[in-house]
Amino acid sequence: MLIVGNGTVLTFDKDSRVISNGGVVIEEENVIAIGEIEKLISKYPEAEYKDVQGKIIMPGMINTHMHLYSTFARGMDLKTDQPPKNFVEILEKLWWRLDKVLNEEDIYCSAIYALLDCVKKGTTTIFDHHASSNLIDGSLDIITEAVRQTGIRANLSYEISDRDGHEKALDGIRENKRFIKKAQQEGNSYLGGMIGLHASFTLNNETLSEAAALADELGVPFHIHVAEGIADFYESKTRGYKGVAERLNRFHILRPGTLAIHGVHLQEEELEILKNNDSYLIHNPESNMGNAVGAAPIKAAIDKGVTVGLGTDGYTT
Ligand SMILES: [Zn+2]
Repeated sequence: MLIVGNGTVLTFDKDSRVISNGGVVIEEENVIAIGEIEKLISKYPEAEYKDVQGKIIMPGMINTHMHLYSTFARGMDLKTDQPPKNFVEILEKLWWRLDKVLNEEDIYCSAIYALLDCVKKGTTTIFDHHASSNLIDGSLDIITEAVRQTGIRANLSYEISDRDGHEKALDGIRENKRFIKKAQQEGNSYLGGMIGLHASFTLNNETLSEAAALADELGVPFHIHVAEGIADFYESKTRGYKGVAERLNRFHILRPGTLAIHGVHLQEEELEILKNNDSYLIHNPESNMGNAVGAAPIKAAIDKGVTVGLGTDGYTT
């Protein structure tokens, strides 16, 4: 038994209590009591005591959209005299170049660094979206090793895409299937998986159908970038849809628990599609400012009853 105390406790329960000079009592994996520190120490005199010296004690934060592999791209010099002019060029000149050269050591080291930073900053759960197009098979196991070493709770996915050809998309489907089945068999509540999809504009109809069939088979939802840049919206329009969410809904990608990341260029009526499918809209303000893609309709989404989460998109932890 452990008492963590002498700090300000923020409960984030239905009463949103703030307890000055508070503490929490932990037994095995559970918090069994919360209150003023003197009362807790006298009630549980046998417990080990950790003095936090006035810091805040609160539930761990959940990062609902992360790319651990992006760690080393922070401040990266693109070594070009023609810097990206728009979001698609940022993808082409940075991210899609980076993900092709990642090897086993890069994947592990970027993950362990970012996960340790999560521990330091108070983030205890992450939803990661991984890409390494020349090391797909087994890539999620490399991240798992780092996850286990840090004790973070993680949901992992491989970012399926047709941008490097359909064979690579099929490899991505297989990696998600292999990893999710393994995690399900293990039954560890600290590790799980979703099916990762890059974004509507890099996925053909066949791949979306195959991914949806896999989601039915495994009983898991999706983790996908939705209408982050305007190009994603125009591509769905060209295909005859009102927007990205309408296309994804046609292929049953938006289902209960699906993480729709960004949603900057979602149309107002598409928020209803998220709501009706119990999919979540994940807001990444730091990333949206960094890529200059615009602002997501978060207020309208909340007003419509869509559940909204926060992610960092790899910018921070
Ligand atoms: Zn992202």
